[in-house]
Amino acid sequence: MKQAIKVIPMFRTDNYEQNYERARDRGANFDTTCICCGRKLHPKTMKEVQGLAPGYFVDVNLKSIPEKYSETEHQEPMGWYSVGPVCYREIRRRLAESTQTVVVDM
Ligand SMILES: [Zn+2]
Repeated sequence: MKQAIKVIPMFRTDNYEQNYERARDRGANFDTTCICCGRKLHPKTMKEVQGLAPGYFVDVNLKSIPEKYSETEHQEPMGWYSVGPVCYREIRRRLAESTQTVVVDM
């Protein structure tokens, strides 16, 4: 079923590099840091957000978007990313305000 969903461009905070370096010094790696701000994730507070090519975060209530290819359409899910609670709130805020939509075939 086709439906229009709200999207926002994936983003990184200005201090991502700084945070990531610091997290790495404390034993974290790309998989255990927030994709948005580079801070070390806490298993109890981290959340998952879904990516859609070419670089969107999508509505957080949506289930996994299936991959679809036809002559006219390319629907390419990018999987789920872990983010910290602050960035998760920011993503939800931006999504609520977003006027950008993409039609996906679920
Ligand atoms: Zn973050």
